[in-house]
Amino acid sequence: MEKYTLSNLPYEYNSLEPHIDEQTLQLHHDKHHAGYVKSANAALAKLTEMREQGNYSDIKSVEKDLTFHVSGHLLHSLFWINLCPASKCQEPNSGRLFEQIKNDFGSFEIFKEQFSATALAVEGSGWCLLVWDSLSKSLIILQVENHQKLTIWSSKILLVLDVWEHAYYLKYQNKRNEFIENFWKIINWKEVENRL
Ligand code: MN
Repeated sequence: MEKYTLSNLPYEYNSLEPHIDEQTLQLHHDKHHAGYVKSANAALAKLTEMREQGNYSDIKSVEKDLTFHVSGHLLHSLFWINLCPASKCQEPNSGRLFEQIKNDFGSFEIFKEQFSATALAVEGSGWCLLVWDSLSKSLIILQVENHQKLTIWSSKILLVLDVWEHAYYLKYQNKRNEFIENFWKIINWKEVENRL
């Protein structure tokens, strides 16, 4: 059973015409998005194989593969469901989202202006996202280059290890491996479990 699966579009391939044409939508979903799903599952299979063999020499490239394809899968899945046939679309003029947008951007018009400007300025291939930032408790617009920066957007962080040199250099100098070994002795597993 594959862990990542491709859902059908919630509308017909021609439902977004003339804004998004049928051929583009079909290629985009059935070829591009399907490719991300397939490669995401392949990366998971590769990780299973690595665990079985106890050989992680290739871990860096598999991590890149996994995050690229899972993030591509997730972002496309969200893209499809945040679109609908133009006849059914209505910009909000009241309600929770509208009030939050007004609060964080000034007005719905200003939000659209900033979102468009941000999307236009994405360097090369990428995405523009409206996100809820749980630290500032506010809406923020993000640019995402490619799909990821070795992250997957569907994740919730459970356990964190800081491997910037500032975290260990005074004591361990260049011996990051020793720092990592010692890290295992001081983890608050209750907290990790609470976050799960
Ligand atoms: Mn795409």
